Amino acid sequence: MIKPDAVANGHIGAILDKITKSGFKIVALKLIALSEEKAGEFYSVHKERGFYKDLVAFMSSGPVVAAILEKDNAIEDYRKLIGATDPAKAEPGTIRNLFAKSIDANAVHGSDSDENAEIEGNFFFSAFERV
Ligand code: GDP
Repeated sequence: MIKPDAVANGHIGAILDKITKSGFKIVALKLIALSEEKAGEFYSVHKERGFYKDLVAFMSSGPVVAAILEKDNAIEDYRKLIGATDPAKAEPGTIRNLFAKSIDANAVHGSDSDENAEIEGNFFFSAFERV
């Protein structure tokens, strides 16, 4: 997912370019606004955390781009491409290093396992919306 900060700052094209140039295939893609309820559902795994309320408010503050990406070793390679959750700790050249300003507004989301990628893909896309 490209988060509201990166969408608002005009980075959709640059981020998708980096993703595809890094060997990922886009198999589903959409621009969508999450309600607070849907953002809360997406991040429900974090609902006991202190930052949950801020996270939900931020993720419903503007449109996001949702995508399903395919690649061998996709989870690990995508995590490497986006960099650390806190952009101040993200390696130079990573998406968060280049496009994120803070741990809240950190430009992109990535699934942390194949199982969660399946769940999160189904959250955003029907079978009809995938190629
Ligand atoms: P990710 O997989 O790198 O996106 O990180 P997580 O799944 O652990 O957390 C989800 C999102 O919650 C992160 O991308 C951050 O935007 C936010 N987040 C995580 N940890 C913190 C924190 O300690 N403080 C704040 N303010 N936000 C956090």
